[in-house]
Amino acid sequence: MSLLMTRGGFDDVVVGNGLIGAAAALEIVRLGRRVCLVGAEHGAAGRWFSAHFDDSRMLRLQHGDGYWEAMTRLNLPLMRDLKPQPVASFLTPVVVRLRASISTGETASVRQRRSLGNDLLQALELEDEAGGIIDPLAYIAAMNAQARVLGLVQHSAAVLGVSEVGGRCQVETDRGTFTAARVVHASGFHAAEALSGLQVVGKVLLFARRPHAVAGPKECFVDTQPGTVAFSDVYGFCDYRRVPQGAVTKLGFSEARPVLLEPSQVPGWFSGGWQRHPRLADMLAWLRDWHPGFDPQLQARPCAFSVTPDGRPALWRSGAQYWLAGCNGMAAKCCQALARAALAALEPALWTAVPPELRMTPVPRHA
Ligand SMILES: Cc1cc2nc3c(=O)[nH]c(=O)nc-3n(C[C@H](O)[C@H](O)[C@H](O)COP(=O)(O)OP(=O)(O)OC[C@H]3O[C@@H](n4cnc5c(N)ncnc54)[C@H](O)[C@@H]3O)c2cc1C
Repeated sequence: MSLLMTRGGFDDVVVGNGLIGAAAALEIVRLGRRVCLVGAEHGAAGRWFSAHFDDSRMLRLQHGDGYWEAMTRLNLPLMRDLKPQPVASFLTPVVVRLRASISTGETASVRQRRSLGNDLLQALELEDEAGGIIDPLAYIAAMNAQARVLGLVQHSAAVLGVSEVGGRCQVETDRGTFTAARVVHASGFHAAEALSGLQVVGKVLLFARRPHAVAGPKECFVDTQPGTVAFSDVYGFCDYRRVPQGAVTKLGFSEARPVLLEPSQVPGWFSGGWQRHPRLADMLAWLRDWHPGFDPQLQARPCAFSVTPDGRPALWRSGAQYWLAGCNGMAAKCCQALARAALAALEPALWTAVPPELRMTPVPRHA
């Protein structure tokens, strides 16, 4: 028997309670529609892993890419307006240090750094005006909380299949079946199972303790000249988390040749396959060169995200189903704007809220 059957079904079902799914559900429920958000827990059934399952994502405006800057600018007021859980519940303002060469010079988002700050970051001359650390789980919780106030129905379940019968979508989950007029899949890298052209990049994050370091004032950095051919950039959250006898720095690496995973390889990647990341030794060497003072006992954590050939998010369509995918490692800081930019293609009420250069056009899905 269905646990989820609702009389008359829903207007919209959103699949995936990640950053983009939570943002999409909030945008749609704001329009007065009956919305159900169905999301699997991270790691459920050894299959439903997530890109957001971590304690920190970086907020910055400057990428040397005006598209992501514009998307992030559109997001800033949306995240600040969230209620009842305010922006302070998921965003900590911090200085983000950058190389001067990353600046396009077209905006005022980067300014000369005012102080030398952290000694490890001497070469990074600029700081981003909007720098911050986003707690992704808390950001999702804040979007969910606001959407529930507006009538969102939320279920923790896995969607196993969607079929279209008589003009309605039949949504089968591991907790029952229900119907909706439209389904928006925001299933992160899982969408690569359904969409040709979407790729999954396997990633590893390093967590290193500096004994006796004091946590805070926090700084982040993105070094686009990391001094090695293995990586196009290295980014870090310096001493951002307090632990017994010290503070933890988190480092991420953009590989010059990313590790591409087949969808069938993703569960194995999260369950230990990441330990064969071909650049793991280079990551550790970079860390040792950067600062010898780290505790040799490192922790690493697997993760992954989806990428599109043009590095932009995309909206695919088949009948009454839509797939919003392609976070390209960027979407924590701009997920609400990104969802709005996609939904503007489907909902005239959102059209004027999105500048033309950010609106998406649904493309036919070819599995
Ligand atoms: C290493 C790394 C570093 C990053 N750094 C930054 C950064 O500094 N700044 C930034 O802005 N962004 C950053 N990002 C990107 C950001 O984390 C992602 O853009 C974001 O998490 C992607 O959100 P998503 O909703 O598309 O996917 P996810 O967060 O993966 O959410 C998709 C959800 O859908 C669920 N799901 C999938 N299929 C189903 C189904 N059939 N039924 C039910 N549930 C389903 C999954 O379990 C998952 O919970 C980074 C990402 C990674 C991996």
